[in-house]
Amino acid sequence: MRRTWTVLMVLLGLGLAQYENRLLVGFQESQAIFPGGGSVAFGPAKLIAEALGLGYLETTGRVYLSLGSRVAAFGINSQGADAVRLLNAYRSEGSLWVPVRELARNLELYYRNEYGASVLALRPARLLEVQRVLAGSTERYVLRFDRDVQVRILANNPPRLAMIGVRGVPDTPPASPISFSREDWGTEIYLPQGGDPPRLLFLPRQVIVERGGLSRLPRVVLDAGHGGADTGVVVGGLREKDLVLSVTQRLHSLLRQRRLEVILTRNSDRAVPLLARAQHATSAQVFISLHAAAGNRVTAFSHPEVQTLRLLEKGRELSARTPAHQRAILERFVAAPGSAARFAQRVSEGFATAGIVANTSQDAMYVLSMAGGAAILLEVGFEQLRTPQGREQVAEVLARAVFSYLGLPEARPTPNPTPAGGARP
Ligand SMILES: [Zn+2]
Repeated sequence: MRRTWTVLMVLLGLGLAQYENRLLVGFQESQAIFPGGGSVAFGPAKLIAEALGLGYLETTGRVYLSLGSRVAAFGINSQGADAVRLLNAYRSEGSLWVPVRELARNLELYYRNEYGASVLALRPARLLEVQRVLAGSTERYVLRFDRDVQVRILANNPPRLAMIGVRGVPDTPPASPISFSREDWGTEIYLPQGGDPPRLLFLPRQVIVERGGLSRLPRVVLDAGHGGADTGVVVGGLREKDLVLSVTQRLHSLLRQRRLEVILTRNSDRAVPLLARAQHATSAQVFISLHAAAGNRVTAFSHPEVQTLRLLEKGRELSARTPAHQRAILERFVAAPGSAARFAQRVSEGFATAGIVANTSQDAMYVLSMAGGAAILLEVGFEQLRTPQGREQVAEVLARAVFSYLGLPEARPTPNPTPAGGARP
């Protein structure tokens, strides 16, 4: 094999000049470009994501490619020289190009010049162990790897997952309910039958496959925007980070009166990385990221119903071979289509009932793009948040919207909270 390569290198080396733009991405043949006449190679962002099975999200000003918990984010520039200088993505004639070396560095990809072409590929990965963890009502399978790995759900029950680029797996005893099958793009893992559809959680060198256990309490994640050194908007001495924390804490106590699992991404004045916020969103039936803006309007943003995570080419083939009801799971996260928009609508109607003008809007946002359920980013005008009464009102509107969306009987907010399960409409 190595001898063949050496011969190839010599042969192709002779024609080096004409091949210098060739870019091999996984098994895909492509071209690199050099914006601004510089020496920095840029590759086609979408093709790279699809060929390597990376997560992909394009927003108006930024593009994100992810591999497990690793995310490479690029600002988008249409001036070649600026894109090179800032190592931004470069938009040219409708296509988006990313600096290949920078991408490889961020995601720890293999990137080398080999026999006259640049080769960009996943490094081979090993699954080191699979651990089953029971935490309260939740069952988790923790998959530990020797690098970050992109995993996709191929089938719900029993769960079958694609571990892209994984070449090695631990030995399992013959009677183990866990089994593997080798594919040319990586390895499939089969987990035991369970109740609920699995959700994925990406952590450094780990993927957690989680499903609800016995009690199956709906999980609501409340994300107070900003925090720590990041104050957010400041209007008349009031800081966004404080106002949104106060509302989420009030909302937390309203929701906790019912049988819900409620998680706060922060419960104090501290910084929370964007990725950590987004990871919380993957496991939530309802996710509310709360922000404040000058003025008195309320806007509920939901992520547009687009395919944010592109499947790799092999995934497409798998998809064609997969029965229709499983294909739906293969092609998107667990949320039913339109669930975020439906929840945003409930929120907006709730504010209207309280006499507050509210709009809904669709915008591509990273924190929402990883959501497993209905996720919105809510911007509330400072006018609504100025007083404790105003903040309480916002929390009450949101609590009602959550109950309504989850199909729980309406709880009338009372000054003295009723004990859990005691409220009747
Ligand atoms: Zn904000």
